[in-house]
Amino acid sequence: MAESSDIAQNFNKISSEIDAAVRLCKRNPDSVRLIVVTKGQSVERVASVINAGAKFLGENYPEETVEKMAGLGSRKTMVEWHMIGHLQSRKAALVLEHFDFFHALDSRKLAEKLNRSLEGKGTLLKVLLQYNVGGEDSKFGWLADQTLKWPTLIKDFEYILQLKNLKICGIMVMSPFTNNKSQSRFYFEKTRMLRDFFQGRYSEIQMDQLSMGTSHDFIEAIAEGATFLRIGTAIMGDRDYPKGLR
Ligand SMILES: *Cc1c(COP(=O)(O)O)cnc(C)c1O
Repeated sequence: MAESSDIAQNFNKISSEIDAAVRLCKRNPDSVRLIVVTKGQSVERVASVINAGAKFLGENYPEETVEKMAGLGSRKTMVEWHMIGHLQSRKAALVLEHFDFFHALDSRKLAEKLNRSLEGKGTLLKVLLQYNVGGEDSKFGWLADQTLKWPTLIKDFEYILQLKNLKICGIMVMSPFTNNKSQSRFYFEKTRMLRDFFQGRYSEIQMDQLSMGTSHDFIEAIAEGATFLRIGTAIMGDRDYPKGLR
């Protein structure tokens, strides 16, 4: 388990690696944001990474996040909170109350629920639509592995687009795990093309955000245009519960 000095060191190391990759790609440094994924981490460790300079935190389980927020006191307001995990509709209210951004919108039903809960509140929820570009059964998101079938995604996209209280900002993927860098890059390129596919059809919205890249493949994600990197273990160390559990 990472101690707080390790967390600060890891945060600085990963931040420099991101800076170097962004420069190498001649991208604007402001266009790439590091979300530190803190699911399964103690309040003390989350406080350490905020002290180290983290500005964006990613969480997967709303109840766990709310508990953590209580423990963080005023530090809670020093960061922007991003919900990055699959959300059950019955927990929609927690996300609306506590999060700034939702990365994992993956069904019409959930979109409708979020939109309805926001009725009359006068606020918009910024969302990313999640797609499954690797075609794995274990992954959430609309199946988008076959380029030729992308037109079938339009119907749900347009449905969500007309929901007044949600603001579509781009798309999110969780790419298949692989140690092959060119394989990762292939999935990220496909994600960028999928974003361009939608952007080309709907010039009235800005699909600027691409949420992709984790601890093991963020360099490849930067090369393909990622704007939100979601990095957990490389900064925070191992989680208190196994990956994928809970
Ligand atoms: C846990 C998680 C991450 C972070 O993965 P690491 O391998 O710890 O960097 C990124 N995105 C999502 C959606 C996650 O659930």
